[in-house]
Amino acid sequence: MHTIVAISTALAPGGIGIVRLSGAESVNIVKKFFKSIDNQDLSEMKGYSAKLGKVFDGNEVVDQVIILFFRAPRSYTGENIVEISCHGGVYIAKKILSLALKNGAKLAEPGEFTKRAFLNGKIDLSKAESVANLISAHGEKANKLAISGLEGNINKKIKEIINFLTEIAANLSVWADYPEEDIPQFKENLLKKNLAEAKNKLLKISEKEKAIKALNEGLKISIVGRPNVGKSSLLNILTGYQRAIVSDIAGTTRDIVDGNTMIGEIPIKLFDTAGIRETSDSVEQIGVNMAKQNLHDTDIIFVLFDGSKKLTKEDIEVIKLVDKNKAIAIINKIDLGISIETEKIRKSFKKVVNISTIEELGIEKLKETVYDFVDMNSLNASEPFVTGQRQFEVVKRAISSIEETETAFNSGVTLDAVTVLVQNSIEILGEITGENVSEEIIDKIFSKFCVGK
Ligand code: GDP
Repeated sequence: MHTIVAISTALAPGGIGIVRLSGAESVNIVKKFFKSIDNQDLSEMKGYSAKLGKVFDGNEVVDQVIILFFRAPRSYTGENIVEISCHGGVYIAKKILSLALKNGAKLAEPGEFTKRAFLNGKIDLSKAESVANLISAHGEKANKLAISGLEGNINKKIKEIINFLTEIAANLSVWADYPEEDIPQFKENLLKKNLAEAKNKLLKISEKEKAIKALNEGLKISIVGRPNVGKSSLLNILTGYQRAIVSDIAGTTRDIVDGNTMIGEIPIKLFDTAGIRETSDSVEQIGVNMAKQNLHDTDIIFVLFDGSKKLTKEDIEVIKLVDKNKAIAIINKIDLGISIETEKIRKSFKKVVNISTIEELGIEKLKETVYDFVDMNSLNASEPFVTGQRQFEVVKRAISSIEETETAFNSGVTLDAVTVLVQNSIEILGEITGENVSEEIIDKIFSKFCVGK
C-alpha cells in the first residue's frame, strides 16, 4: 500500500498545523526534506518519540517543526506514521504537504487514515463511524454518544447479541442434527423466549433514533403559512440575523430562503418558504410549488398563523396540505391580541405554540417544543446506542429477520430452516462491526470523513 499524506488540521491560520503521513515509506519521505537539530537519522527514531528540526525546500528553510513518530503496528493506522507539527499558517502546511507529495507520498482520500486503521484491524467499523461523529459533534450529548461508541460500547453490545444468537443457532443445530440422541428435550418456549429477548436487546440499542439523528445530522425545519403571517420574521429571529426580507406586502418571499442555527444542541437548517396561496404571478407560483415539494423532505414543519386575524381560506388550505405528524402549529402576532379560532387549530395539530416575533414572546417555548418533538430530554447519551442512518437500518433489518424467524418457527418449518434464519440475523449484525460488509459500503462510509482523518 502506498504512503499517504494530508493536512490533518483545519485549513485556516492557527497556532499549530499538522501534516500527517502514514505508510511504510513515511520516514524515508520525510527524511528528504527534514533535518533534526541533533542530526540523528530518522530511521533510528523510536516509536512514540519526538524530534525538533527544520523543514527545507532545497536550501531554503520553510519552518521549524516537531516530528512525532509512531512505529507500526503501534499507531492509529497500524502503519508507520509521521506527524509534522508546524506553525499554523495555511501556506506552511500546504508547502509541507507539497514537499511530501514531491518526494513520493500520495494525497490521502477523505477518511483514508481511519479506513486503514479499520482494514489493519485497529478499530471496528462502529468505532470508525464514532470517530466521524466525534469530529462533527456540536454539543455535549453528541460528544458523549460518539465517545461511548469509540470506547467500544456499541461494539460490545452487538457482539453480546451476536453471541446470544449464536448460542440459539448452536442449540438448534444440535437439536436438528441429532433428534433421536439423548439431548435435552427441545424447549419450544425457551426458543421463543430467547428470540424475543434478542429482539428486545436490539430495540433497546436503537430506540432513540429521532433524538440521535437530530444530534448527529441536525433537523430540517420548513416554515409554511399563507403570506404575511410572519414566516420571514420567525426565520430571522431564530437565526439571529436579517436573513429573509420582512415586508407587509404579500408574496415577497418567492423562493426558499434558508438559514442555519442551533436549538440547544441540535443543528437546525431552516427553510422559509413562499407563502402558499393561489397566485397569478408565475414567479411566485414557482416558489409556491417549491414550498410544497420542500415539505416532503423536511423533518419538522412550522405551520404559522396570524393570531390577530380570523382563519382564512388560505390558512385552511395550508392546514390541509401539511403532514400533521411532523407539524408544529405556531400562532404568531399574539402581541396584537388573539382573534384566531384557536380551538380549530388545536383540533388539527398535536402541538400548538403561541409567539410574537416582534415582542420575542414564546420563542423559548417553541425551542422546547422542538426538543420534545425528537424526545431529546429522555436520551441518556451514556447508554450504548447505535448511531447513523446505516447502523439504524442494519438493526432494523436484524429485527425483521428475527421476526421472520419467529413466524417461520410458529408456522412449523424444520429446525434446519429456523437455524438458517437465525444465522441470517447474525450475518446482518456483522455489518455494524464490519465483519460482514462489502467494499462498496466501506468506501461509502469513509468518503464522508474529512481529509486528514
Ligand atoms: P411572511 O410573508 O409570512 O414572511 O411575513 P413577514 O415576516 O414578512 O411579516 C409580515 C408582516 O407582519 C411584517 O410587516 C411584519 O413586521 C409583521 N409581523 C411579523 N411578526 C409579527 C408579530 O409577532 N407581531 C406583529 N405585530 N407583527 C408582526
